[in-house]
Amino acid sequence: MITANEVASAVGGLNKRARQPIPDALKRNPPLYIFNIYEMKHTRGLGSLGTFHVPACEPGEAYSKPLVVPGEFFDEFDRGEGSLGWTYETGADVAKAILNVGHRDGADLSAWGVFLAADKKPTREELSAAREKLTAKMREVLAAGDALALQGDSGLAQIQAMHRKAAHYLKQHRDWINAEPVEMRECHGCGAFVKPTLPRCPQCKAPFDLAKCRELWPMEYPIMTQRPVAAAR
Ligand SMILES: [Zn+2]
Repeated sequence: MITANEVASAVGGLNKRARQPIPDALKRNPPLYIFNIYEMKHTRGLGSLGTFHVPACEPGEAYSKPLVVPGEFFDEFDRGEGSLGWTYETGADVAKAILNVGHRDGADLSAWGVFLAADKKPTREELSAAREKLTAKMREVLAAGDALALQGDSGLAQIQAMHRKAAHYLKQHRDWINAEPVEMRECHGCGAFVKPTLPRCPQCKAPFDLAKCRELWPMEYPIMTQRPVAAAR
């Protein structure tokens, strides 16, 4: 991250080159403060703008330490023939990119209790708005856990820590919270996830243990032997 002062000193060192002047009016934006009300920390890489770490909310705290985003971002680039240009981003735009509002697949941090505060300290309203969004997200995750549990063993095997955390966050009990994780086998016949103790796939009947299958279902898994070929007429 480059501050306005660092830009100024870099400017001094490079003044042999023709330089597009940076207007002073662009150097006056105050820093921005991003907070987190949940125990999950986040890292967001934004290329040349830098990598940003949103701290986790520590147990017993209402919100995390802030991620402080500078009010503006300057970057310089070589325009060729001894001339340098610069690019400029407002901290507000960078903060927006960190939060990733509206993105799907869990990438929208604002759904996970992360928010941009108007000042150095979050207000009661900002905190309750963040809590509301986080609760909605947790309900979504819990519902996904319930849907998996309904699929039986293959679904239970896909229950993850996040599903359990959602139940915990919402103070909901679910039988599947304590379900022992079963290591499932991927069927070589149809790709279904099945219990490893089964002799065959319950969906496509591909045998995992052929000897056992022959014992249990001799008609379905016949032993191929050379039989005398009927004489052709
Ligand atoms: Zn199968």
